[in-house]
Amino acid sequence: MSVNLKRRAYWKDQVLDRDERKCQICGATEDQIHLVAHHIYSVSEYPEEALNVDNGATLCELHHREYPFSFTGDSTGERWLLWLETYQEHGLSRRIYDDN
Ligand SMILES: [Zn+2]
Repeated sequence: MSVNLKRRAYWKDQVLDRDERKCQICGATEDQIHLVAHHIYSVSEYPEEALNVDNGATLCELHHREYPFSFTGDSTGERWLLWLETYQEHGLSRRIYDDN
């Protein structure tokens, strides 16, 4: 593993630990679905924030996919908070993958 990949894996682990290894939208855990450490400020625009734990948020792969990636390029914390608030306001934080 390259040094960069190791550092990225360590970053992800720290983000997941801080978020109690749960999706910040639906609360899904690792044994239910693959979890991703999402970069709030995009890596392409803010490479200096790539390994900042405060710039990470745990998401399940479904919610990570759902995040409006069309915003990539001007992806900022403001955009992230707006997305999070929209979810909370409309009560959409249900487990959309639930198979029961
Ligand atoms: Zn989720």
